[in-house]
Amino acid sequence: MRTAAHPGLYDPEAEYPTLTGTRCARCERVYFPPLAIGCEACGAPEEQLRPCPVAARGRIHAFARVHRETPFTIAEIQLDDGPLIRALLDVPDPRIGDLVHAVWSADDGEVEPVFRA
Ligand SMILES: [Zn+2]
Repeated sequence: MRTAAHPGLYDPEAEYPTLTGTRCARCERVYFPPLAIGCEACGAPEEQLRPCPVAARGRIHAFARVHRETPFTIAEIQLDDGPLIRALLDVPDPRIGDLVHAVWSADDGEVEPVFRA
C-alpha cells in the first residue's frame, strides 16, 4: 500500500506514474492540475470538464537547481498531452528540450513522480 505525497494528482498504486487531469469535452484542451471551474480556453462550463489520464512524459521547458540541505532540481515540463507542469527532475545534466518521463520516487511510503531522461 502506497500513499500519494500529493493526493488527487495521480494514482500511487499504478505501476508507472500517470497524472490525473481534466479534459474539456468541447475543445479537447487538457488541464493539469485538474481544473474545477470552466474551461479557460473555450469557456465551456465545468460539467464539460471530465477527468482524464495525462501521460507523465514531455520535454524540459525550464529548470532551476534549488540549494537546500538536500539539493534538488525543479523543472517546468511541457507534457506531450499539452499542459505545462512543475515537477521534480532527476537528470544529472539537464538541458532545455530534453525528453523526460516520470518514475516513482518513494519517501517513507509516500510516492511522487520524478522526471528522468
Ligand atoms: Zn474548452
